[in-house]
Order: sequence, then C-alpha cells, then structure tokens
Amino acid sequence: MSTKQPQRILHADGDSFFASCEIALDPKLEGRPVWVGGGRHGDGIVIAANRTAKKFGIKTGIACFEAKRLCPRGVLCRPHYEEYRRLSQAMFRILEEYTPTLVPTSIDEGFLDLTTMDAHVWRETTPADYVNGLRARIKRETGLPVSAGLASSSRLAKLATDVGKPGFLEIKAGEEKEFLRDRPVRELSGIAKNRERRLAALGAHTFGDVAKLPSHQLQKVFGIWGQQLWLFAHGRWSEPLLLEVKDRTTISSATTLPYDEHDYEAALTFTLSEATRLTGQLRREQLALRELSLGVRFNDFSEMGASHRFQHAQFQNSVINATLEQLFREVMSRAGRPVRQLRIAFWNLTRLDTQPTLWGTTDAERWGALDAATHQLNDKLKKQAVMTGAQLALQHLDGGPRQPKAKCPFVPQREMVKKLWGTDADPLAHKEEWEKRLAKVSKHHAVKG
Ligand SMILES: [Mg+2]
Repeated sequence: MSTKQPQRILHADGDSFFASCEIALDPKLEGRPVWVGGGRHGDGIVIAANRTAKKFGIKTGIACFEAKRLCPRGVLCRPHYEEYRRLSQAMFRILEEYTPTLVPTSIDEGFLDLTTMDAHVWRETTPADYVNGLRARIKRETGLPVSAGLASSSRLAKLATDVGKPGFLEIKAGEEKEFLRDRPVRELSGIAKNRERRLAALGAHTFGDVAKLPSHQLQKVFGIWGQQLWLFAHGRWSEPLLLEVKDRTTISSATTLPYDEHDYEAALTFTLSEATRLTGQLRREQLALRELSLGVRFNDFSEMGASHRFQHAQFQNSVINATLEQLFREVMSRAGRPVRQLRIAFWNLTRLDTQPTLWGTTDAERWGALDAATHQLNDKLKKQAVMTGAQLALQHLDGGPRQPKAKCPFVPQREMVKKLWGTDADPLAHKEEWEKRLAKVSKHHAVKG
C-alpha cells in the first residue's frame, strides 16, 4: 500500500468563454441570448454562444443568419479578441494564486495541482468551499463564469468539469470507479471515433464495461493507451501534472480583409507588413524558418497559394519579405479577382543558434535583441512607435490614425477612391488596370483567331 498522498487535480474551464467575455464587457447583455460571430457583414459562423442562446439550438459552427432565425431577439456580438486575451490573463492571474502548479491548456482552460492542499489549506475548509471561493472570485473580479472539476488525474478532472457544467463537481478519492461505471467512454476527452468504435466492437460502451475486460486484451488492441484506459476505468490512473513547453512548429496568420480588395499592390503592402510582424515574433522566440507559404482566398471563395523552401534557415525580414513578394506576384499573375483573405505561414521552424561567439554577438542575436526592444517599446507606448518600411507604407496607405492592433488596418481602394475623388466608385480609377487586362485578353483572342 502506498502512503503517498492521493493526487488532486483541478480542471478550470470558462463557460462559453467568448460569449461570457462579451457579457462581462457589456453587463446589459446579462440574461439575454448572446452569440459571437465572425464574418464581415454578419455572414460568418457562430464561434461561441451562451447557455441562454444554446437553449434556442444555437451552437458553434452554425451560420449567423441561421442563429438569428432561431432566436430573433438574441444578440450577435462581433469578436473582440484583444479583450478576450486580456480577460483570460486576468482569470489566470487569479488561478495562479491558488496553486503552486498551474498548467494552462487554452485561452480559457487550465489544470491546477491541489495535491498538497489537504494537509495545509484544506484543514480549515473543504475542497468544495475552496474551489467555489475561487470561482466566485473570478466571477467578481472579471465577470466570467467558470466551471471546475476536481479529481485524481487531469483526464478525470476534465471529465468531471464536463459532467458538472455549469458549476463544480468533485470526484472524491476512492469514488472514481463508481463514478465512471455508467459513463460512456466517449466522454473521455480526446478519444477518437475509431477507438470508440473498436471499443464498441469489444462490447465496451461505458467505463464499467472497459473495467470488466481483461487488461491484456486492451493492451493487445490499443497498446499502452489500452493499459492506461484500463487503469482509468478502475479509477487507478494518475499522472503528474507537468508544465511542458513544446517548441512551436509553425507561426501563421490569416486575415480576412474588411472589403474585397481590388488593388493588389495594397494587398501586397498588407501582406509584407503582416509578414514583418510575424518575423519579429519568430526572432523574439529565437526561431528561424525553412519554409514559408502564402495563401490567397478570393471573393468567390476560390483559393490559390504558393510556397517556398529555403536552403538554409532564415530569420531576416529582408530575405523573407523578398521571397514573399515573389510568391505574391506569382499567385496574382494567375488571378483576376478581388482578394478576400490572406494567409501567411512560416513552418519547418528551427531553433536559432544564439550562442555568443568569440567574436561577439551573432547577426541573429542582434536582430533578436532589436525585435525584443521594438516590441517592448511599442507595448509600453501602446502604439507602433518603431516601424519597418512595409509597416510605414501600410500606415501611409491608411492615411489616418488607426487601431493599435487592428487586424486589417489599411483602407481598401474603394474608400481611397472616395477620399480622393469624393465619389463612391470612379470608373476611371481602375481604367489603366482594366485596359491592361483587356489588352491581354484581346491579344489572346487575336493569337487564337
Ligand atoms: Mg470553455
């Protein structure tokens, strides 16, 4: 018999996080059906819905117009990602105070190791009071409702949260097997459909069924995972809660422009400015890229893309942007439609060697330090005080003051035309471009004829 303290892991999870953030930001929405939707003209999909909205059948993934049809009196909110990030941080700051080990797993979810609480903190209180106090404090200070589950492992704690939502559910030490007996195996997070099917083929639909199977049979079918599942079903699975920092494998961004952009040069300027931002991030994280790709989605939702693989890992803006410009021109030479969305991805990332050499700092090191300083300065001043050429060009394109971190800060050509000529769409504004294009087409026909 082990005398080791039983593990107590808490899983905390924000309820309908984005929708709750919107309500926290605007308390007038409290009690109303609320959903957050993407898209530019309310033509996107629902990315979060609160509990009240869910009662009307509104769920993540359905179209916003469908949501409106299901619940005409509900409120559609535009996403405010910066605010969500800020509220998430505030939530994790509070969670941090309740445990020596906090492992965030997403913007609104994380695990807390409360194993050592029994002997000290919980002598005066119960786990339920402790966790409910924590939940009440998050609600009070950030406005966000949080559900939680407490159990002997992170997997079981997550399952407890899902079962007890909204609220708190504790699975006491020793009661795990009993709790799991009638629960379907599909409730285990991360269980793949084909594993579920293969378990069903063995006659195992609930954890109770799994517990009745011989462990060697599960091991034969599923390998190590089968053994773990068997232990889990018996309430005997435990694993230490570790904070693993994995190296990034990709840095990317996808931006849907506020309007379909006819002007490819404007789209290019935006692409390069966005790439500059990503390159800064790349170097701050001391990484270099081997491959980069560009994806363009047009207003008819057709897509084109191109990618490039470098011989050696790259980290310099000048090299990356020059290649990206080439890719952009290559893609656009085959295109003839307005641009809806731009996607840039850096991948095949490797660690930058930033060991100081005998001869002083390396190029990579100096560039990295410059990026870190620029980032810090811009952060401190709450505006873009230091810019590269591409970013400056983008701001010139814009012409006016802009949001500090707007997703797509440039004014599209349609608005530029309006500013310059004071009319909505001067047909002459595109004359040259159209002439060129028509010339190409007529030449093509002439050759054929
Ligand atoms: Mg959540």
